[in-house]
Amino acid sequence: MKPADFTLSAGPTQCSSRTLAAMGSPMVYHYDPAFLDTFRRAEEAAKQVLRTSADVLLLQGEAVLGLEAAGRAMVRPGMACLNLSSGPFGKGYGEWLRAWGAVVHEVEVPYDSAVDPADVERALRAHPEIELVAVVHSETPAGTLNPVQEIGPLAKAHGAVTIVDCVSSVGGMPFEPDAWQLDLCVAGAQKCLSGPPGVSIVSVSADAWALVAKNPDAPRYSFLSLLDWKHSRLEGGRFPYTPSVGDVHGLLACLEQLLEEGHEASFARHARAARACRRGATAAGLRLWPRSEAIMSTCTTSIATPEGLTDAQVQAHVRERYGVMLSGGHGAGNLMRIGHMGVTADTMYPVVGLAALLRALADLGVPVDIGAGLDAALRVLSDAAEVPA
Ligand SMILES: *Cc1c(COP(=O)(O)O)cnc(C)c1O
Repeated sequence: MKPADFTLSAGPTQCSSRTLAAMGSPMVYHYDPAFLDTFRRAEEAAKQVLRTSADVLLLQGEAVLGLEAAGRAMVRPGMACLNLSSGPFGKGYGEWLRAWGAVVHEVEVPYDSAVDPADVERALRAHPEIELVAVVHSETPAGTLNPVQEIGPLAKAHGAVTIVDCVSSVGGMPFEPDAWQLDLCVAGAQKCLSGPPGVSIVSVSADAWALVAKNPDAPRYSFLSLLDWKHSRLEGGRFPYTPSVGDVHGLLACLEQLLEEGHEASFARHARAARACRRGATAAGLRLWPRSEAIMSTCTTSIATPEGLTDAQVQAHVRERYGVMLSGGHGAGNLMRIGHMGVTADTMYPVVGLAALLRALADLGVPVDIGAGLDAALRVLSDAAEVPA
C-alpha cells in the first residue's frame, strides 16, 4: 500500500527534503569525530531552539521516553504532585504519577478547555507539600493550549518544580522555559520541528536536578535514566549507549532549518496556517472543538465531528478517497484534526487538508459549504501574502 500523498496528521509530520537527505547519511560509528561533532551541534541547536540556558539532553527515543524518564528521575513514593489535566496527555501523566507512588492532586478541566491559573494557585495554597507540578503546554489531541507562562511562576513561587510536555509546541509557537520559570521541559522532533520521531529533547534546570538528587531511586544504568546522561554525556563527554545515528542526523538538520528561518517567522507561519484552517472550517459551517479561540494551539485545527459520524469513519474516508492522512481525536473526543506543523504549516497544505475534509464530509452526507470554506481559508493566505516579509 502506498503512503498518503499528504500527511497532514497531528504528528509525525512531513520532513523537508534536507532532513530526509540528512537521515540518509552514512551510518557512522558513534565515536567517529564526525558524529561527535554532529551530536554536539545538535545539542547546541536544541538549546537554542528551546531558548534555554538549562542543561539539554538528547534522549534516544520518541518523546514519551523523555516524559517517562523525567518523572522517574524526580518522583518519590509519597511525594505530593499537582497534575494539570486538560486532555489525554495531561490525564495520562497523572496515571503515571500515581503508578510511581506519588500522592496526586489534580486540576482537571473538560477536553475543550484550558487550565485556569487561579485553580493552580488555589491547589498549591491548599497543599503546601506539593513538590512537582506536571502540565502539558499544547494538548495536541484537543488542539488546546495551557497558560504555562503563568503556571511556571506560580509553581516557582511555591517552591515546586515544573515538568512541562512541550512536545507539540516547540518551534511552532512561543515557548520560553527561562522567562516562564519552567524547570524540566520535554520536546520531540516530529511535531512543529518536522523531524524524525525518535529523539526526546529534555531541558533540566538546576532546581529539577536538585529534586532528582533528593530521589535515591532515580534510575541509574537504565534506558530511562536522566542521571546516566548527566554523568556520561554532560560530565564525561561519552554516551551511556549508542545514539540513534540516523535520527540524530535528521534532528540536527531540522533544528538548523528552524534556526535559519528564525523562531518568530516560524511562529507566524504556524499562526497563519492555523488561522486559514479555522476560518475555513467555520465558514463551511463546522464547529471548532476548543471552547474559545484564545486557547487554541496553532499546531493543529480541531473540528468537532458532525453529528452521526465518528472521527475514525471520516479519517478513513479522507485517506481512502483523497490520499490525505488527517488525525482523529486520539482520546480527546469525537473530533477531526488537520495538522499544520513544520513544513506543512505553509503554502497550500492547510487548504489541501481542509478541502479533503470538507469534500469527505459532503460525501458522507453532511451539509457543508465547501466553496465558502475554501474561499475563507484562501483569503487568510492571500492577505498574509500582501504583508511584506
Ligand atoms: C506527540 C506528543 C507526545 C508524544 O506522544 P506519542 O503518542 O508517542 O506521539 C507527547 N505529548 C504531546 C503533547 C504530543 O503532542
